Amino acid sequence: MSLSERDKKHIWHPLTQHKTSASPLAIVKAKGALLWDEDGNEYIDGIASWYTSMYGHCNEAITSRVAKQMQVLDQVVFSGFTHEPAVELSEKLIEILPDNQQKLFFSDNGSTSVEIAIKMALQFHFNKGEKKVAFLAFEEGFHGDTFGAMSVSGLSVYNGPFEGFSLEVYRIATPKGDNNKVVLKQLKSLVSEHAIAGFIYEPLVQGAAAMKMHDAEGLNSLLKHCKVNNVLTIADEVMTGFGKTGRNFASEFMKIKPDIICLSKSLTAGLVPMAITSCTQEIFDAFYSDKIAKGLFHGHTYTANPLACQAAIAGIDLLNSSEIQENIKQIIASHQTFAKRIKNNKKVINIRQIGVIFALDLNIEMERYGNLRNKLFTHFMKKGVFLRPLGNTIYILPSFIISKDQLTKIYDAIEDSFSLF
Ligand SMILES: *Cc1c(COP(=O)(O)O)cnc(C)c1O
Repeated sequence: MSLSERDKKHIWHPLTQHKTSASPLAIVKAKGALLWDEDGNEYIDGIASWYTSMYGHCNEAITSRVAKQMQVLDQVVFSGFTHEPAVELSEKLIEILPDNQQKLFFSDNGSTSVEIAIKMALQFHFNKGEKKVAFLAFEEGFHGDTFGAMSVSGLSVYNGPFEGFSLEVYRIATPKGDNNKVVLKQLKSLVSEHAIAGFIYEPLVQGAAAMKMHDAEGLNSLLKHCKVNNVLTIADEVMTGFGKTGRNFASEFMKIKPDIICLSKSLTAGLVPMAITSCTQEIFDAFYSDKIAKGLFHGHTYTANPLACQAAIAGIDLLNSSEIQENIKQIIASHQTFAKRIKNNKKVINIRQIGVIFALDLNIEMERYGNLRNKLFTHFMKKGVFLRPLGNTIYILPSFIISKDQLTKIYDAIEDSFSLF
């Protein structure tokens, strides 16, 4: 029996309606930007396995470091204990984060990093004796699938059964340049009418909303208004973090720096799950007290697992290397060339790019979406390219180590797909 068949017996997959979905594809090996299935077919991983393995799959600079750590210290409780990998990671990460960031709180995945940010913001005000209980968030934002993260997410088509259990959240549009003033006005009136604890946002790129991009200046003016009105700003950089926008963090494009930053996905270079919620000294100080109850009583069993910390250290070392920085520049240039090549094609609209993130929309009406995604997905896989189209959007988010030839194959497969409809 194939793996795909054995899988059916006991496994319940994420984000899947099992009755209507095709069988999952069994992947048996990965290296660099390539994946192999159980029949020996090869695919270029055009989205770095959901933006995690940004330095390539099974990269020895990372795996060897983790393997070595495994022989020495595999896991230890992080409440009341500490260890070298966590301390070294904290030093390296603070070095590259926006310079108002001082303290790191570890957890396991992007959603928990957001839960912690939400609890930090609520308790920050609570500890100061202020009643601030609501959040601001962007329409179509995505922040994860746990309850708090789901509440602040605006992409809630499938959240029906849980709607009555949501936090108090007010939504604003994203600033796109021409509407900056309108959005700022919207935010101003919400801040004055409600007890807003924090504003959570994906800086500049909304990943799950199909790589929608917005305006740095517009976002900056929103952050500025939050700052002066004691609304904490929470940058969800789970997707945008670690070099993907061409800078280490998307927050670097704005003058006003966030109070809290959520990190996961490529934090551990695609090896193991881990997340970090970073914050300023000021936030930390609001929890620092002789009163025990003022502390942040949140914790996960595998917090700051030493193997995950080593993977993250290896990832940051690679990100800092001139080789990776050079690759990032080359990918950016290749994307720009491709954008020029297709920009006059009538089947394409909204070509957009920031750093190594590239997206385009097919010029097709909503009613015709039906089978579009499957048709595109199948087309790409037949060409040996793994991409995950969303609605009428095709996007690329390759690992930094992808070769020129591999990128060309992806571009060609995308251009070929225009003739499918
Ligand atoms: C993926 C993602 C999350 C959720 O992370 P998980 O590890 O899947 O829980 C949160 N925010 C953003 C912006 C993401 O892209």
